Amino acid sequence: MSAYDPDNIFAKILKGEVPSIKVFEDETTLAFMDVMPQSKGHTLVIPKTGSRNLLDADPEILADLVKKTQIVAKAVATAMEADGLRIIQFNEPAAGQTVFHLHFHVIPVYEGVSLRPHSGDMADTGELTALAEMIRAAL
Ligand code: 5GP
Repeated sequence: MSAYDPDNIFAKILKGEVPSIKVFEDETTLAFMDVMPQSKGHTLVIPKTGSRNLLDADPEILADLVKKTQIVAKAVATAMEADGLRIIQFNEPAAGQTVFHLHFHVIPVYEGVSLRPHSGDMADTGELTALAEMIRAAL
């Protein structure tokens, strides 16, 4: 497995070098809207400490990240009135990982609505900003 690259896009988001639409932040964790959402409200939850994925993560960082993912997931479910949620995490390109900074996907699922493809079309920034506000209000 390759080493963690501190210049990956999520590391740049953490450093404020690349913009993101935030929904939750504390001392260890950041959650923001996925720019290529698979459904309305697709959110990413990342630790502020760098690791490539779950395999090289410090277990304590991972445990904390799961707790924070639960907080964000509940808010996403409530705000989006989702019928269900997929919590997904990919490890290495063969498994579908495209950004090499550990993250959990929180993907709302709506009855009768198919998920869009992984890393598909870019969403409208104004729409994502409005959804993020709704999720923040449900935290
Ligand atoms: P992975 O394939 O690594 O599990 O997922 C990476 C996710 O990050 C994808 O769902 C993709 O849409 C999202 N993504 C990629 N680049 C950016 C970006 O610059 N900003 C945001 N907010 N999401 C991104």
